[in-house]
Amino acid sequence: MRDLTRDHQRRRELENAVFEAPASTRVLTVANQKGGVGKTSTAVNLAVALAQGGLQVLVVDVDPQGNASTALGIDHHADVPSMYEVLVESLPMAEVVQTSPESENLLCAPATIDLSGAEIELVSMVARENRLRGAIRDLLAEREKAGARLDYVIIDCPPSLGLLTVNALVAAREVLIPIQAEYYALEGLTLLLKNIELMRQHLNPDLVVSTILLTMYDARTRLAAQVAEDVRAHFPEQTLEVTIPRSVRISEAPSYGQSVLTYDANSSGALAYRAAALELTRRPVP
Ligand code: ADP
Ligand code: MG
Repeated sequence: MRDLTRDHQRRRELENAVFEAPASTRVLTVANQKGGVGKTSTAVNLAVALAQGGLQVLVVDVDPQGNASTALGIDHHADVPSMYEVLVESLPMAEVVQTSPESENLLCAPATIDLSGAEIELVSMVARENRLRGAIRDLLAEREKAGARLDYVIIDCPPSLGLLTVNALVAAREVLIPIQAEYYALEGLTLLLKNIELMRQHLNPDLVVSTILLTMYDARTRLAAQVAEDVRAHFPEQTLEVTIPRSVRISEAPSYGQSVLTYDANSSGALAYRAAALELTRRPVP
């Protein structure tokens, strides 16, 4: 009952909501070295919500599994030019981006299975940590010049702290950490935060953890409430008010090559991601 009231309220708020464009392009990396915490679902659904809100959005898929590409309905079989060619062969990103059927405002730079080799191939390359940063910077400059500025770039990472994730953390200014509200999640976070601190010291002094989003939140369990309380106590500034509920719709959508926003626009999961996206645009950029 409480959920229904919340959804009803949310739907009304979102009906008239205006998604303001940021003063300059925001580049966010969605990171958490733990798999299955909702990184890809978060990257995809926030991106679609922002694009549906009228903003110009690019999703960069650097997970060799290509789950974000799949969910956005983007062709990413082995022959498609992808982030592999961008990172390893210096192909301009403009040549790999595709428009997602989810929204004409939404671009995706896909990942193919080739990317699994990039982790190793990058090791011996010059400025191996800066490849993605350079590629995104070139694309953004080109778009600005053409009068087609991007508002948000959202990078989806693999569940590891290897060179692909390092590239993503060097390319972004903001880190968005999804936390699954079902485990004592803070313990797992220590390693990620330590790595982000190393990035700041050596490779990307501007990097900040700007946003934390609680995912798979089941309001009926005490554990979820406890995790949320702990996370908010540690990260009061960063943690979004909106939490993403555990929802079957969210997990079903990708197998239809869709975001939950198009798969079931009025589901709790879709409303929550739209509300989270709106909150993201409204909070001050640190
Ligand atoms: P990651 O990218 O961190 O590995 P995913 O976004 O792929 O995580 O999510 C892991 C699994 O959990 C996927 O099967 C996904 O569909 C499912 N999932 C993600 N978020 C939710 C949610 N809020 N409710 C239910 N299932 C979810
Ligand atoms: Mg993923």
